Amino acid sequence: MVEFYSSNDGIPLNGYNGLWRPYPVEYKRGKAKLEDCDRLQLCAQAVCLEEMLCVRIETGALFYGEPRRREVVKFTAELRDKLKAIVEDMHKLYEQKYTPKAVKREGCRSCSLKDLCLPKLGAANETSVLEYLEMHLK
Ligand code: SF4
Repeated sequence: MVEFYSSNDGIPLNGYNGLWRPYPVEYKRGKAKLEDCDRLQLCAQAVCLEEMLCVRIETGALFYGEPRRREVVKFTAELRDKLKAIVEDMHKLYEQKYTPKAVKREGCRSCSLKDLCLPKLGAANETSVLEYLEMHLK
């Protein structure tokens, strides 16, 4: 979701008076994670909004369903650099036409991408093609 707050250094919004500053909010079911993955996702959303709307976005929020609280995320230079490195890696993989295997983990069960990412397929796919064919032919 994107909230817009009235701000003198914001952007005009069609149908609304004044200037508005976008504030991205990402909703998650569970609890905050130790690693930065959710913060990086939110930062990527903010960078997309910055490019679309020609505005700098300094903060956003993650809302976690279990504590039912928002965590404010600052889009620091460090977080942006980490995001840039990940996006560069993604572009390299795309250019190489290489899709890395999903690594199945605890969070996959509640992940909204599990039907696209198919982490179970990677985990179950430990038999060779030959073994698989032999197993089914028998
Ligand atoms: S389903 Fe895929 S995208 Fe989702 S947590 Fe598992 S590996 Fe990551």
